[in-house]
Amino acid sequence: MATHSLFLLPGDGIGTEIMVEVEKLIAWTNAEGLTDFSTDSGLAGGAAYDAHGVAITDEDVAKAKAADAVIFGAVGGPKWDNVPYEHRPEAALLRLRKELAVFANLRPAICYPALASASSLKKELVEGLDILIVRELTGGVYFGEPKTITDLGNGQKRAIDTQVYETYEIDRIARVAFDLARTRGGKVHSADKKNVMKSGVLWDEVVRNVAKDYADVELHHILADNAAMQLVRTPKQFDVMVTDNLFGDILSDVAAMLTGSLGMLPSASLGAPDPVTGKRKAFYEPVHGSAPDIAGKGIANPIAMIASFAMALRYSFNMIELATQVENAISAVLSDGLRTGDIAQDNCKTVGTEEMGAAILAKLKR
Ligand code: NAD
Repeated sequence: MATHSLFLLPGDGIGTEIMVEVEKLIAWTNAEGLTDFSTDSGLAGGAAYDAHGVAITDEDVAKAKAADAVIFGAVGGPKWDNVPYEHRPEAALLRLRKELAVFANLRPAICYPALASASSLKKELVEGLDILIVRELTGGVYFGEPKTITDLGNGQKRAIDTQVYETYEIDRIARVAFDLARTRGGKVHSADKKNVMKSGVLWDEVVRNVAKDYADVELHHILADNAAMQLVRTPKQFDVMVTDNLFGDILSDVAAMLTGSLGMLPSASLGAPDPVTGKRKAFYEPVHGSAPDIAGKGIANPIAMIASFAMALRYSFNMIELATQVENAISAVLSDGLRTGDIAQDNCKTVGTEEMGAAILAKLKR
């Protein structure tokens, strides 16, 4: 029996095309004896709706829960724009996140040297950038109750969203951030709005308490609005940034764009460690969607998907060396001047999905 199990959900559009490149990588690492992964695949999003009339079947959810890690492509597309709301492709993602209880969303923003000049910021500001944003994913204002729009009867309406956090939710996300900082630059910035929000006051109090267990990690407090400014002013001052669901949604997108194209951005979502095995439920996916405009053309950038797999190696299986080798292989093909259309540059060779995947694998083989 294989040591580790992966459940692959390619999804729709380019999701299926970029997953093929990850499957080739897995086949190679297994063949080389570097890993011992068993893989199984399922349907998610529009593909599942076409086959079963739902965004994901109970059977596939059960397989996702049983696997050591889920590797997800992307879902959606115009074909499914008018399916019943509860069966829309994104419902697969929401259900999986909920059932796996993945509360910690990790969004790295790494600027590969070869792409530094493609950033919207000056090259010297982003060259060598390596930030990790840790966003709380299952609480806060997106889920807090009450969440209502009330007609006041005088031609006015009142809308309410509720920002709510409890100690345990802040404690567990802070621990993820501190644990990760220990494996990186040893620095955590905690971003909140404690100057105007009670949830921010509690956020800061709990984070400071957690910091007492991590004397080797530097903790800095930063107001979330200042964090947005600093990210575009001097982004390299950051190592790990931990923040709530709302601020994390925005700050992670800001950080991501420092590094260039959507096609380059991986992500991980982690749950709590199992009390017996210590294993966390984990979900890895590129940040981008199913890109219907380029689906089926063989030109999608597979790097976000491959980098998401590298995150799985790092965070689910502690295969740090292999993860680093995959990341270095990505960096090396970019330095060689290979580009997919979304990151095309003068004096570089534009290639398709398969050629980019093959080039990364060829670097690894060396
Ligand atoms: P998108 O991320 O799919 O595409 C935005 C733009 O970026 C497009 O021009 C696309 O061609 C380009 N792009 C994205 N990934 C690329 C890649 N790997 N290589 C090259 N170019 C790439 O976002 P969208 O167009 O707003 O949404 C399309 C569909 O995807 C919608 O149905 C949306 O609901 C869905 N979506 C799904 C997810 C997910 O599955 N996690 C996330 C976002 C959007």
